[in-house]
Amino acid sequence: MPELPEVETVRRVLVESLVGLTITDIKIKYEPIIEDEPEIFKKNVIGKAIKGLDRRGKYLIFNLSEGNIISHLRMEGKYFYLPKDSMDNKHIHVIYYFDNGYMLCYQDVRKFGRMVYKTDEELFTTRPLTEVGVDLFLNKQFDYRNIYDKIVSRSVAIKTTLLDQSIIAGLGNIYVDEVLFAAHVDPHRSSKTITYEEVKAIVDASTKILSKAIEYKGTTIRSYTSSLGVEGQYQQFLCVHTKKVCPICQSEIKCDKINGRSTYYCSTCER
Ligand SMILES: [Zn+2]
Repeated sequence: MPELPEVETVRRVLVESLVGLTITDIKIKYEPIIEDEPEIFKKNVIGKAIKGLDRRGKYLIFNLSEGNIISHLRMEGKYFYLPKDSMDNKHIHVIYYFDNGYMLCYQDVRKFGRMVYKTDEELFTTRPLTEVGVDLFLNKQFDYRNIYDKIVSRSVAIKTTLLDQSIIAGLGNIYVDEVLFAAHVDPHRSSKTITYEEVKAIVDASTKILSKAIEYKGTTIRSYTSSLGVEGQYQQFLCVHTKKVCPICQSEIKCDKINGRSTYYCSTCER
């Protein structure tokens, strides 16, 4: 699944190709990807220029000359920017055509990804972006105390709380395992028991790990391979996720399901 570093990598690649182009047409092959009525979505988007690309957590935001498209890749969504009509397959569900003879294909084998149009007024005042927590990579002015208060108000496992995008945005299954390992916190612990010092360690590890993963263009593992021809290289720095032996104490890495998600941890280093 693409997490924040992978989405940021997609954003950085797309911004170089798309800014300044005008959308001349859209083909919607699988309508549920578009949360709006398809005809209304087309009417709102066709004829608009792409001014920029932004991101909040794992949401990509295409800023148009008027309004915005919010795109979430979910499990397997990928974009391909190519000359018009040079690619098609049954997993491509939406195609944007541009005034330079190129197209942007949205491919999604699992079909879980979503796109929606929002006016400039609606963008940050309506769902889904109102439900996105602090993006540690964008917002350096976050408040540890505020994050702590939110974490300890939950009674579920800390792993589950961190996967919920409403407190810290952008941490997915891979990076939550890495963050909890770096912070020495057992992923099964109830969120209520996490101390203020541990929250600081979690937040600092999140910032560090996400920044480094962005620098290495994300992680390429079985569950998510490249989009736009970019292969992430952060997998070489993973300490626990998909690993067998702890790099610190050499204990065997354990793998359990927490709330249905495969969770890798070292029971010696994480308490
Ligand atoms: Zn260990």
